[in-house]
Amino acid sequence: MSSNTVAEARRRRTFAVISHPDAGKSTITEALALHAQVIGEAGAVHGKGGRKGVVSDWMAMEQQRGISITSAVLQFAYRDCVVNLLDTPGHADFSEDTYRVLTAVDCAVMLLDAAKGLEPQTLKLFEVCRHRRIPVITFINKWDRPGMDPLELLDEIESRIDIKPTPLTWPVGVAGEFHGVIDRRDATMVHFERTPGGTRQAIEEVVSDDEAAKRYGADYSRAREEVELLDASEATHDQKLFLDAVTTPVLFGAAVANFGVRQLLDVLIDHAPAPEPRVDTGDHPRELDSAFSGFVFKIQANMNPAHRDQVAFLRVCSGRFERGMVVTHAESGRPFTTKYAQSMFGAARDTIDEAFPGDVIGLVNATNLGIGDSLFVDNKVVYPPLPSYAPEHFAQVRCDDTSKAKRFRRGIAQLDAEGVVQVLISEQRGDGAPVLAAVGPMQFEVAAARLRGEFNVPVTIDNLPYSLARRTDADSVPMLRGAPGVEVFTRQRDGALLVGFPNRWRVQTVQNDQPHATLEPLLADAGS
Ligand code: GDP
Repeated sequence: MSSNTVAEARRRRTFAVISHPDAGKSTITEALALHAQVIGEAGAVHGKGGRKGVVSDWMAMEQQRGISITSAVLQFAYRDCVVNLLDTPGHADFSEDTYRVLTAVDCAVMLLDAAKGLEPQTLKLFEVCRHRRIPVITFINKWDRPGMDPLELLDEIESRIDIKPTPLTWPVGVAGEFHGVIDRRDATMVHFERTPGGTRQAIEEVVSDDEAAKRYGADYSRAREEVELLDASEATHDQKLFLDAVTTPVLFGAAVANFGVRQLLDVLIDHAPAPEPRVDTGDHPRELDSAFSGFVFKIQANMNPAHRDQVAFLRVCSGRFERGMVVTHAESGRPFTTKYAQSMFGAARDTIDEAFPGDVIGLVNATNLGIGDSLFVDNKVVYPPLPSYAPEHFAQVRCDDTSKAKRFRRGIAQLDAEGVVQVLISEQRGDGAPVLAAVGPMQFEVAAARLRGEFNVPVTIDNLPYSLARRTDADSVPMLRGAPGVEVFTRQRDGALLVGFPNRWRVQTVQNDQPHATLEPLLADAGS
């Protein structure tokens, strides 16, 4: 059984696509699914028009704003592998969710818009990948439209995020006149032909060198020269450097026409890492063939309004998962039955019978599980808590009906456990008036809607004038306490001491006044 677990783990490729909104994440997700023939036609996964997505209380909010809050996992077979594509929210306000999804993957695909290059959200997401040492494959999308020069794009990647791009494919034709790519791995030229509407796989044709020169003339000779330049500058894939996140393989394509999507899938299979043993809080690796274990990286409430359920998404780290297994919840020591384990993507929920390292399972009605919690069988394992990210928005939340104070507290604790918002307690305000902190302000709307709808507590949310936080320590608190315009908080989840500041300048002046006070930036801090 255990050797089977290792063999199954080796076949897994678990990744997420990261991008700035509008770079084409939904489009490429559909295109990947199409290639893997999960669905017949692009548009059926979570097409923005005829969305057949999850029916949830958020639907109204999502439709109104045209965003996707819910996220899940798309699993498909490709070649002899099992690919797990973890979906991430499209809206930047929910990037904290995306950051957490990144704790559950082994690789990320960074999607860039050919005309825009690196955008603010791409930079922040990349920062999280770097921090977690996640290997990144770069896909330059929308090559069917006018865009930047390909070499310029490479320069931008190298200079702004300090990772060496090593193209595996190279475009023939400038952005906007996309004939195909030269595959640097075997030096062939592949011509792409769009199918009507782009809803089917692109037609690919391998074109000989002579034929390509004849057909594409100057475009082809230029591409060849550029490839020679890449060879000369050693911008060539090196598996070890890629796995160490020193280099990033680059591919060019157009997701909307399915150009370059097969190449991306092949690169994922050939080069993306399979699951490795994950380390616990004591830094000990849990071998893949040990008994089952995993951790919760996402909790989604109210996915089905018919029965207010809550789904905890768990990444399997070791062993074979079998539905019905009784596992132990590390944080409480309690047994947990997994009768309702499911895989889900969009509207589709399938009961899952077994899963292996790299897979994601959705545990329904897992009300006692919190974000970052560990589950295991046999030998206890506790995986490290999920990192918390730099909040950029702060608001005080008040319960407007004193008779519901208890319920209010329960609601706040629940939102905290799920990671909907970060809950902070201020010395000045006390725990009756918690402060919510978020990466994006829409997280407050979700929190307020949940408190009102699900916990039936009337609440008022008042925005606070802070826009960034620094981490401090107990020794520094007395030095910071009196500083005007700043506030010291204790984060409920982990007891971390945070200081809220209205802006960067204030951080500087406070630091100048109190040079011995600790003020450290947090992960994915804007502009850091
Ligand atoms: P997301 O916000 O990252 O999920 O982006 P979407 O997948 O919704 O795409 C944003 C817009 O870009 C949509 O109008 C897509 O049709 C368009 N788009 C996506 N990929 C391509 C592409 O390869 N070429 C062109 N021309 N448009 C694209």
